[in-house]
Amino acid sequence: MRLKTKLTLGLVFLFIVILSFGIMGIVYINLLSKDARLILKDNHITLEYCNNMLKSLESVSRDTGAVTVFEHNLSMQEKNETEVGERNATIELRKNFDRLKASPGDSTYAHNIRNAIYRIQDLNQLAILRKNKTASATAENATFWLTIIVTILTIVAFTFIINFPGIISAPLQALSEGITAIAGKNYSKRIYLKQSDEFGELAGAFNTMAEKLDEYEHSSLSQILFEKTRIETIINQMKDGIIGFDEKGHVLFMNAVAENLFGLKEAEITGQYNADIAIRNDLMRTLLQDREKKELKIYADGKESFFIKDPITVNNGEQLIGEVIVLRNITPFHELDEAKTNFIATVSHELKTPMSSIKMSTRLLNDTRVGDMNKEQQELVKSIDDDIDRLLKITGELLNMAQVETGNIQLKLQQTTPEQVVEVAQLAVATQVAQRNLQLQLFVQNNLPPIMADPEKTSWVLINLLTNAIKYSHENGTIEITVKRDNNKVLFAVADHGRGIEEKYLARVFDRYFKVPGSIEKAGTGLGLAISREFIEAQGGQIWVSSSYGEGSRFVFSLPVV
Ligand code: ADP
Repeated sequence: MRLKTKLTLGLVFLFIVILSFGIMGIVYINLLSKDARLILKDNHITLEYCNNMLKSLESVSRDTGAVTVFEHNLSMQEKNETEVGERNATIELRKNFDRLKASPGDSTYAHNIRNAIYRIQDLNQLAILRKNKTASATAENATFWLTIIVTILTIVAFTFIINFPGIISAPLQALSEGITAIAGKNYSKRIYLKQSDEFGELAGAFNTMAEKLDEYEHSSLSQILFEKTRIETIINQMKDGIIGFDEKGHVLFMNAVAENLFGLKEAEITGQYNADIAIRNDLMRTLLQDREKKELKIYADGKESFFIKDPITVNNGEQLIGEVIVLRNITPFHELDEAKTNFIATVSHELKTPMSSIKMSTRLLNDTRVGDMNKEQQELVKSIDDDIDRLLKITGELLNMAQVETGNIQLKLQQTTPEQVVEVAQLAVATQVAQRNLQLQLFVQNNLPPIMADPEKTSWVLINLLTNAIKYSHENGTIEITVKRDNNKVLFAVADHGRGIEEKYLARVFDRYFKVPGSIEKAGTGLGLAISREFIEAQGGQIWVSSSYGEGSRFVFSLPVV
């Protein structure tokens, strides 16, 4: 039965009970009041008339007022004959009263009158007793039925009090428990109610919802597990080492390559704080010390490997939720680079000998003792000579670069005077300066202290800076060489007033093989400044550039005083 019907029936029942209780009460009260009214109206008032007649009878013979009273009460009695036999007694009374009035001295009539009045009184007293009995019976009846109704009502109300809260609260309790379980992700929770009312329907709807949630949870869980396995497989197949941390630095995972590099097992360190691992693990320490992207040489599996450390922060759009460090394996590139350097070194070295002999031959050809050449031949030899110079410069730079790249810079550090370095460089570029009608101005401070340097390599750097200055200067321009002391260093500066370098390229001019886009075709290899930096830094110095585009450049290097 539906809850609504149950409630309606319950209320209808209560209504009927209250109504019948009320009707019965009213009926019985009416019956009782009718009985009382009848006693009063029919009998009690007759007794009063009788009393009045008895009192006035005493003085009827001598007092006309008494006769009037008697007459009045008698006529009232005549209108109130209610009991069986009362009428005859009243007629008897009237007859004797009329006779008494005719012969007031006759006591027989008075005697008869008294008897008639007594009969009337008896009849009415008996009636009062009877009616009183009836009223008592009615009252008892009312008490009986009302008691029965009260008892039934009490039992019904008691049953209602005991059962009704349960009817409502038990399913509500079950539903509330179910909802709490679902909120706690316990999607296997079901509610079993054996009722077919609204609560039963609600339980059915709840169970359907829980079933759907359960299905969804399982399907998305298996999807997530599938994705997790897929990603783990990809991560483990990678040639790069990968290690992940949560936002507090606890290890979440590491792949097989990382396990090998760290010499640790994922299962052992998962959940551990990275700083704790760093205490006993060199690689972890190196990774944590420096958060920048940088190259690392790692000795693992009995060989040297090269990795680029690439830290990637992970956030969920609002805050940092972890960090992944990828150790990219660049060993194959390193090997290729090494092969390239070796190849360049070998080729340059092999080319140097024949080129030097060509150079020697052109010198011999220019010597008049060998024989005269006509003008065209002289120009041809000159062109060969220039090209050989360029080739020699390029092979020299390539050889130097090979030295730098293999870490084999052979420095011959010795006490050297700055003037000596400047002199060698000045001499080397004198011809080029003259050819381009340039002016080389020297500003060398007096009493410069000696420096600790490799004179050959330092001169090479200065010559390279001067060659660039000559190359990028306008015809008839000036180039200034300034040498001065700066605390415990000596600064060498080469300034030109050529086209200068655009700001955006300034940071890159010292990079290997870098040439400012749009540079002169024959500008060279793009290695000169890179080698210069390596040579200067290897000697404990520094090199830098400042330039205004269109106005010229100023290259400066410093070397430590002895
Ligand atoms: P290169 O051998 O090609 O000159 P460098 O390493 O010496 O190579 O120079 C790198 C680049 O820097 C050059 O290609 C050139 O564009 C620029 N550069 C070097 N010196 C100057 C200078 N004095 N004025 C303008 N640009 C220069």
